[in-house]
Amino acid sequence: MSESGSRDNHARQTDRGASISVAMQDYLKAIYRLQQGDGRATTLNLANELGLSGPSATNMIKRLAEISLVEHNRYHGVRLSSSGEKIALEVIRHHRLLELYLAEAMGFEWDQVHEEAERLEHHVSTEFEARMDELLGHPKFDPHGDPIPSRLGDVPSTTWVWLSELPVGSRAVLRRVSDRDSQQLRYLAEIGLVPGVVLEVSQSAPEGDGDARNLLIAGHRHAIPMELATSMQVEPLV
Ligand SMILES: [Zn+2]
Repeated sequence: MSESGSRDNHARQTDRGASISVAMQDYLKAIYRLQQGDGRATTLNLANELGLSGPSATNMIKRLAEISLVEHNRYHGVRLSSSGEKIALEVIRHHRLLELYLAEAMGFEWDQVHEEAERLEHHVSTEFEARMDELLGHPKFDPHGDPIPSRLGDVPSTTWVWLSELPVGSRAVLRRVSDRDSQQLRYLAEIGLVPGVVLEVSQSAPEGDGDARNLLIAGHRHAIPMELATSMQVEPLV
């Protein structure tokens, strides 16, 4: 393969030919994530999200605005343009397909795949992506229950609710957990709290900790810290 051919797989380009570095891709992804959360990305929460300083985030946002991948104004913060969103969704698609591929085809544990996918997501070609997708049977969700955007950028929609908001006495299927904390993922796997499992929210014990969600999973009782419950989504059973 020619040198320029192999380079194609690494540096993405905008429609106007500006190249998009790995750092830029990570920013676009982080902006997408923040927009999904409370609908707003600011320089400050972007810097926090990426563990970087305010000034470096300011500089990067300026560069991204220059090549029309984001729009930035003082009042509304940073928003992805449609071409910025397209790139963010492509990288996210790579990430989630890679996580599933690593878990299903290569036997990685679900607490190991995020780190690997963070690195690889920037370097797989369109062909590689298509083959993973084919091999996995065109999956809609990754091992943590995160929806996998389609090649056209459509994100599977869900009607899931936060575990923290599920009323006492309800039953639900666990659908989605955060992929960020590998120690937490190992703990969840240990107690069988993985996507697809049926759980029931039970009454707190009399001396119970008000800051925990009491769950019944396959006949066993577990107290899940409220903070953890706010990062998990379930599908209520009626
Ligand atoms: Zn991940």
